[in-house]
Amino acid sequence: MMDYSAKIIDGKTIAADVNRETAGEVAEITKNFGARPGLAVILVGDDPASKVYVASKVKRCQELGIHSEKIVLPAETSQEALLHEIERLNANPVIHGILVQSPVPKHIDEQAVVNAIRPDKDVDCFHAVNVGRMLLGDFSGFLPCTPWGVMQLLTRSGIKTAGKHAVILGRSNIVGKPMMALLSAKGADATVTVCHSKTPDIAQYTRSADIIVAAIGKPEFLRGDMVKDGVVVIDVGINRVPAPDTEKGYRLVGDVAFDEVARKASRITPVPGGVGPMTIAMLMKNTIRAFHQSFKH
Ligand code: NAP
Repeated sequence: MMDYSAKIIDGKTIAADVNRETAGEVAEITKNFGARPGLAVILVGDDPASKVYVASKVKRCQELGIHSEKIVLPAETSQEALLHEIERLNANPVIHGILVQSPVPKHIDEQAVVNAIRPDKDVDCFHAVNVGRMLLGDFSGFLPCTPWGVMQLLTRSGIKTAGKHAVILGRSNIVGKPMMALLSAKGADATVTVCHSKTPDIAQYTRSADIIVAAIGKPEFLRGDMVKDGVVVIDVGINRVPAPDTEKGYRLVGDVAFDEVARKASRITPVPGGVGPMTIAMLMKNTIRAFHQSFKH
């Protein structure tokens, strides 16, 4: 196997830098305000991947000195009971940020849940008010964690986006759409193409891309013959594929066929160890922003 280490955008190292900055900000807050930023994470049900994500978020809070509360509710929890829990946290002054781990069970309306969170505590940046603010170009409030993490990977790796053709695979509310907003915003200045499941011949777009952000949830979808030499590839996908010979019985792969694409790319993120650690690092940043916002009301 070829050694692509010089091309790797190392999300773990960059996230560690962001986390170090955050820990410094938490220490400042504690010194100046005699208080700590607080994050509440609600998990409904027992989806194994969600449990892992929630545990990682709580652990990172502990490492950075952020107060955290984990609320685990059974899968059969009613929407009303969940909204009641959110109301309780909305009113709790030691909780500055609230998130409900996605996905919620099918009988619960996810958008109703997101809209119940006070916008100034919406650290996932899913509430319509915060999404709208970001689209209008106001980046002083919350920013969506994964797309913000991708932007940090690019800027902290010295990759210029201005004037570049960026192709985003996926148009979800949590990744593709906000990614489009951040890459095309003034300052970032990329020209953006968004592809989705109804886009015919996706390769015609990816082959002309300087930067590709893949976020579709299809294992190794982006192949080597779909990219040009020198492309920068950010792989957001996290897919579990069966691996009977491993202890867990599965392995994680991204939306990019790593070996094929790395051969042609100038820079590329691995899975795991690329975007994943950045998402949590940016969640912690949003929690600091939530603490500061709590004084504006
Ligand atoms: P999602 O809500 O399922 O959206 C998937 C998007 O991809 C949709 O817009 C869909 O198109 C499009 N799509 C699906 N199949 C396609 C195909 N064959 N060709 C072109 N487009 C296709 O997924 P998501 O929440 O955005 O997540 C995407 C991936 O990123 C998943 O693997 C997820 O686990 C991962 N993820 C990782 C992080 C992280 O921290 N690293 C965070 C969030 C998500 P339509 O709109 O037409 O259906």
